[in-house]
Amino acid sequence: MLDASRRWRRDGKSIGLVPTMGALHEGHMSLVHAARAENDVVVVSVFVNPIQFGPNEDLDRYPRDWARDLKMLEGAQVDAVYRPAADEMYPTDASTRVHVGGVTDGLEGAARPGHFEGVATVVTKLLAAVDPDRAYFGQKDAQQVAVVKRLVRDLDLGAEVRVVPTVREADGLALSSRNVYLSPEERKAAAVISAALREAADIYASGERDPVRLRAHLAARLALEPLVQPEYAELVDAATFQKPGTLAVIAARVGKTRLIDNHDLEKPFPG
Ligand code: AMP
Repeated sequence: MLDASRRWRRDGKSIGLVPTMGALHEGHMSLVHAARAENDVVVVSVFVNPIQFGPNEDLDRYPRDWARDLKMLEGAQVDAVYRPAADEMYPTDASTRVHVGGVTDGLEGAARPGHFEGVATVVTKLLAAVDPDRAYFGQKDAQQVAVVKRLVRDLDLGAEVRVVPTVREADGLALSSRNVYLSPEERKAAAVISAALREAADIYASGERDPVRLRAHLAARLALEPLVQPEYAELVDAATFQKPGTLAVIAARVGKTRLIDNHDLEKPFPG
């Protein structure tokens, strides 16, 4: 990968990287399209990163469909797909992990111990292997965006971090590779998450600024859907992930499936 990247650089080409775990959907493709528009060369990485999954998480059943992923990427004028093997990324004697402090403390970091260390380590390795001018991440994973921005800044990794808006289904549900786990009833119920964000944005737009009341509204709206068990619903600062702020973030279980979503209340909810 690094040889290819160095050749492109020698030829004066700019490189955009889109890191993914495969099971591609239109959310991923929106990142690819953004990279295509802004770079001479587009590299998509497909790697289900084992170290960002906790021991009781869904690593083994995480959806994988390489043939389908490749077809989608071929149709989107991607120049290269980087798909390392897990033992290539993490030989048994690999002993380095990247820890980003502060911004990883709460919410996803608290709910998933070790998750962001896994994310920061793999992103560091992907940036080292591809050496892109720009790397593309989805707003869907807002805390990941904050972690990656901090990581790139603190370690002088050089790539420009580009953030792409969340792609949603018609009823508002954020596209996610994990949505395939949902039964038809759960899939319907899951729309309450984006509905709560939309209503909070409406209330904010009508002048409500009290984070306690905005947060209470999120909780009350989620509570109306018995198939959805919220893990957290908070208002945080988008860069530090400390309270308070105007980024509304939600994590909830729908059956066995854990979903996350977020919306910056200073912006109108799309659609
Ligand atoms: P994943 O394969 O789930 O690790 O996601 C790879 C990248 O795609 C991450 O930067 C995600 O934030 C982004 N992504 C996932 N779902 C969406 C979505 N619905 N809209 C925009 N970006 C997304």
